[in-house]
Amino acid sequence: MQSQKPRIITVANQKGGVGKTTTAINLATALAAIGERVLIVDLDPQGNASTGLGIDRQDRVVSSYDVLTGALDLIAAALPTAVPGLSIVPSTLDLLGIEMEISSAPDRVLRLRKAILKAAESPTPFTYVLIDCPPSLNLLTLNSMAAADSVLVPLQCEFFALEGLSQLLETVQQVRESINPDLSIQGIVLTMYDGRNNLANQVVDDVRAHMGEKVYETIIPRNVRVSEAPSYGKPAILYDLKCAGSQAYLQLASEVIRRERRLRAA
Ligand code: ADP
Ligand code: MG
Repeated sequence: MQSQKPRIITVANQKGGVGKTTTAINLATALAAIGERVLIVDLDPQGNASTGLGIDRQDRVVSSYDVLTGALDLIAAALPTAVPGLSIVPSTLDLLGIEMEISSAPDRVLRLRKAILKAAESPTPFTYVLIDCPPSLNLLTLNSMAAADSVLVPLQCEFFALEGLSQLLETVQQVRESINPDLSIQGIVLTMYDGRNNLANQVVDDVRAHMGEKVYETIIPRNVRVSEAPSYGKPAILYDLKCAGSQAYLQLASEVIRRERRLRAA
């Protein structure tokens, strides 16, 4: 049991299909594989992280909705997964209604933050909490940023990769100025890189030129094994450890940990 507050990383980008869920699942698995105790909070009503970790809809008797409404404590809403050391607070379609339901509550942006702080008052079984965000800068994403120590941003290696990034960074800045001054950028990870595509290399250069050392050295390649894994309810790292995508996520995890140590020491 760990009495320290877990490190909280939110995986966010308001664009859909950029690799948020894939990154949350595989980074969480990689962290668990090296002995961290990890909790994923699925904040996307689509529930892809829950499905991708093999939690069928009928088994989602607890959910992130229950945490945001205050009906359940964070720990009580966590379900174990097939990955040792990895649990998940799954999401259900109830989340679609949350914005309306809590929109007039003064603490509407702070629901997740409060739940995590409350959980951390007693010894918690987790050292890391990873939050998988919906493809929107909505109340759910704001809840994640209010609760997090840092934001990890997946960017797909495509022509419009940088489009929308400034809006995301502005939102992070607003959250810093209002409710969470300590929020930092963990890093930006380039995903679905295809070396055969000349444009992809140009995108990598562009993103590095604009964002400098915020961009991780690790680049996640486009890899068919990574895209197959969720249909088996498994992280790619369990489905095919040796594939290039899994190896890249293991490498990303070590970069993330290195940065966490630096952030913690600062
Ligand atoms: P988001 O959560 O941002 O919407 P996902 O992680 O769900 O994005 O990824 C979008 C789609 O791309 C999914 O079908 C996923 O399986 C696929 N995908 C993600 N990363 C890779 C990759 N490295 N190689 C191949 N397919 C990928
Ligand atoms: Mg997703």
